Amino acid sequence: MQVEILGSAAGGGFPQWNCNCRNCRLLRMGVFAGKSRTQTQVAVSNDGRRWFLLNASPDLRIQIERTPALQSSGTARDSPIAGVLVTSGDIDQIAGLLSLREFQPFRLYCTASIRRILREDNSVFGMLNRVPHQVCWQDIQVGECVRLHTDAGADSGIRCETFSVSSRYPAYVSAERIAATNADEAGLGVIVTADSGGRLAYLPAVPAISEALQRLLDAVDLVLFDGTFWSNDELIQVQGSGATALEMGHIPVSGSEGSIQLLAGLRRPRKVFIHVNNTNPMLDESGPEYLEVRAAGWEVAEDGWQLSL
Ligand SMILES: [Zn+2]
Repeated sequence: MQVEILGSAAGGGFPQWNCNCRNCRLLRMGVFAGKSRTQTQVAVSNDGRRWFLLNASPDLRIQIERTPALQSSGTARDSPIAGVLVTSGDIDQIAGLLSLREFQPFRLYCTASIRRILREDNSVFGMLNRVPHQVCWQDIQVGECVRLHTDAGADSGIRCETFSVSSRYPAYVSAERIAATNADEAGLGVIVTADSGGRLAYLPAVPAISEALQRLLDAVDLVLFDGTFWSNDELIQVQGSGATALEMGHIPVSGSEGSIQLLAGLRRPRKVFIHVNNTNPMLDESGPEYLEVRAAGWEVAEDGWQLSL
């Protein structure tokens, strides 16, 4: 399997447009010991020709233009992007769908709850279905293994196993809609397996780590895991108010209840944090937090990484 990390930051990117935290300030001054990042986006391929996006970031257009494998070639209208798998309704996971509205057919896999939220409550996504045979929406059942297909119906050689990690719907979803949806379908983790070899666990938003999740992750080759916040009160420290990491659905990286500690038993996979918020001190490669992450056997994803499993 080929994996392209097109973006690695949490919502807002790094730097974030309205943020003057230490990280964003030093980065803009050109003295930060770390890299800028666009909002999290991953693409996977079994054969290097047909690609599937895992979610669709608000930075998708520029991310495609930075990635030759995802660019149009051949006929006047063409794309190697065969489909998108959406794991939640979070804006930083779906806004990029609106950048794919140029009448290019593709398949869009998501839970029925997310499909209803997007298609029935947010008319702007109707732009994906202005003509027949534009976007083909396919419901996925949590817990089932689904083989991804191209728009023309060809088997891509990639299969995805989804599992529920979060019952939180985004704040823009109405109370009526939440009452009518299945809580299990709010936020998914996904294990992506390619016929050509390689298993990837993709979890950009994880509120808690169970023993079952630990076992799942120890059976894959690469874990791309929620690295949003270093500490539970990180945003409160920066802003003076706001929600904790756990209240926002993200287990922090550090501490006795953090992901480094709870996933210390993982033996098999390469372990990479992704979806890193601009306030997270582990972005600073000269700081103790980054050293702690590396010493624990984890990496911090960067835009442009190309991995082969
Ligand atoms: Zn910032």
